[in-house]
Amino acid sequence: MQQERYERADQLNEDQRPEKTSETEAQLDPQRQQQAREYARIRRRLWLLGLAIAAAGLVILFLFRLDLWLRDLLQPLAWQPLAGWYPLQVAGYFLVLLLTYELVSAPLTLYRGYILPRRYGLSVQTLAAWLSDLGKGLLLSVILELAALELIYLLLATQPLTWWLWVALVMLFFSVVLANLAPVLILPLFYRFTPLPDGELKTRLLALAERARTRVRGVFTMHMSSKTTAANAALMGLGNTRRIVIGDTLLNQYTPDEIEVVLAHELGHHVHGDIWKLIASQSLLTLLALYLINLTLHGLATPQLGYHGLADPATLPLIALVSAIVGLICMPLGNAVSRYLEYQADEYALLTTGKSEAFRSMMTRLANQNLAEAEPAPLVEILFHDHPSIKRRLEHAEAFARRQSGSDLGLASR
Ligand SMILES: [Zn+2]
Repeated sequence: MQQERYERADQLNEDQRPEKTSETEAQLDPQRQQQAREYARIRRRLWLLGLAIAAAGLVILFLFRLDLWLRDLLQPLAWQPLAGWYPLQVAGYFLVLLLTYELVSAPLTLYRGYILPRRYGLSVQTLAAWLSDLGKGLLLSVILELAALELIYLLLATQPLTWWLWVALVMLFFSVVLANLAPVLILPLFYRFTPLPDGELKTRLLALAERARTRVRGVFTMHMSSKTTAANAALMGLGNTRRIVIGDTLLNQYTPDEIEVVLAHELGHHVHGDIWKLIASQSLLTLLALYLINLTLHGLATPQLGYHGLADPATLPLIALVSAIVGLICMPLGNAVSRYLEYQADEYALLTTGKSEAFRSMMTRLANQNLAEAEPAPLVEILFHDHPSIKRRLEHAEAFARRQSGSDLGLASR
């Protein structure tokens, strides 16, 4: 508790420091970095623990053939609207597995999501507000996952050879729909959004967008300060819902130059069409996972092993196992793609604003504020980081400044 109070005080002092301009070289706070390393290490251990719990659960399930036992237990739900498709039994099976997992890992969820971020001064939510967010998130993912599973089992029953291809196509369609709806239907469940008011920042952004010959569909403030002390910004949505979103935690505490650099970074994602690239790479990953599930089911879902066929609800743990393995193996790949897109957006921000000093002071202050580990071990960065490390991003800005002064006109840094 004492530590938490100290951190808050520290942040306040930081905010009240008179020179917030980019001429003052901001420094990584060694004490905050020490805490950031600790925080990241604890979170990695908790992640591993969560993984171990899930793995142990699957081993127990297969070892004691609880997968078959649960199917037989749910036999009363075995209603078949179509030959071989058991939508109620699948739903029951999924809910029992999910509920068991959530209950077993509840202490971990509470510690990772609520206790730890509060202890490190990152979360300011009450327990009730946190629980309400958790419940909403769970409900949303149950609905989406259940819909996907019902589709998978329907097609497993009716198109046993090509089901994976159809599922991938339908999922691609829905990921595009969801990307469209997320900023208008889903995220407002968790945060309040208001349009960025007219003023200097908006003018600067419009000038940046003008130079990029890109129409920005909207800039919104996300009111996140009631939940977290961390600052963030993002590009969200597709088509008419495509928008740049800036956390009020960022707007309130950074200089106009620093915020302009953040806006330029998000505009870079916008100009590069990064949401489409993410949807495309995610869809390829889904296709791969579904194909491997297909091979696994055709190999293992046999009567000799106790399964009634491909669309037997008891194959659900097999599906979970294969998709978890594919997800884990592809995580570093997905992160590498993301780090590359982030590097490109940084480059765009530096090129369009020319403000490498503001970029550096913004990054430094973000690391201090968000407890971001500035220099993670190389393996940690490769496995877990979807953004380049703060150290690399600072080096990027320094290299840019050198390039700039090499071909110098002496104008850009003003
Ligand atoms: Zn970004």
